[in-house]
Amino acid sequence: MDRRSLSLRPATPDLRKAENLWFKDCGLVIRADNVLFRVSGEILASKSPIFRDMLRIPQPVNGETFEGCPVVCLPDDPIDATAFLRAIFDSEFFEPYPAETDFETIHGVLKLSNKYLVDYLRRRALLHLSSRFPTMLDEWLDPTPASWSIDSSLLIPAINLAREVSALWVLPALFYSLCTSTPHHFRSLARGVPFRGDKLTTLSQSDLELFLEGSHAQRECASSMLQFLWFPEHLQGCSTYARCYGARCAERKYREGLLYELGYQPLELWGEAAWRQLPPAICPTCVERMKSNHQLALNSFWDDLPVKYSLPCWEDLEQMKDGALA
Ligand SMILES: [Zn+2]
Repeated sequence: MDRRSLSLRPATPDLRKAENLWFKDCGLVIRADNVLFRVSGEILASKSPIFRDMLRIPQPVNGETFEGCPVVCLPDDPIDATAFLRAIFDSEFFEPYPAETDFETIHGVLKLSNKYLVDYLRRRALLHLSSRFPTMLDEWLDPTPASWSIDSSLLIPAINLAREVSALWVLPALFYSLCTSTPHHFRSLARGVPFRGDKLTTLSQSDLELFLEGSHAQRECASSMLQFLWFPEHLQGCSTYARCYGARCAERKYREGLLYELGYQPLELWGEAAWRQLPPAICPTCVERMKSNHQLALNSFWDDLPVKYSLPCWEDLEQMKDGALA
């Protein structure tokens, strides 16, 4: 590469050196927007076949330089580039699951490791992403701690990221979560949510259509998740049918009154607290039968969740996940 070439044009006075990613003994400057990173081209090339090919091409004679180093310009967001390059050059920055991380980091590392084919980082980032959006019902209802937390305003960027890197197996749980937050976020669906400053991020047109149809279907299921309260009327083994059924119907009336508010989250409609609050008039035999029937309803809802959002079935999604994380 030619080091006698022109220095970086002064047309961008707000250029800044990246903190923690400016190694004076390295000879390559990477530029993403107005941020400059001085790193080792050889290490980058050893991790990424895309960079290997890119750096093999001789630098043009009048190519840009900065402090004597050739400059490679990337079209990527500097926040993504920072996360990606730190993951490569700082071994403590993005440790494997279950080490804690955050969405900004996962976003940058996953997006760019996918683009520049850094397989080990792609797998690591996918495992972090998947830790919050499981494919199994048990993992949803009784989750192992995820390595990061997510605010509802980040669900749309997370869906877009999953689409971009073909991590379809996280989408059912992501769409489900978006639906549970929809009553408060209809406007943001239409307008987009702020992501990284003032930029608004929206779902793609096709995902918006899938989501609107799927969230309607999700809400339609709410009532069937409570059906165990009144159906079947006579539960096998119960010897106090009239008293039990009367109490079950009273509970149904109360719970159905909550559906307007809670109907978007069928999986959370009934949980441990609700079992504890059941009227004592219902006999233990009925409670056991009701628990089995509620579990069947949960299983059925979860099994159909991908189909509601026009995604492949769980079996296919699991295969994709196994292939990507292997
Ligand atoms: Zn009973």
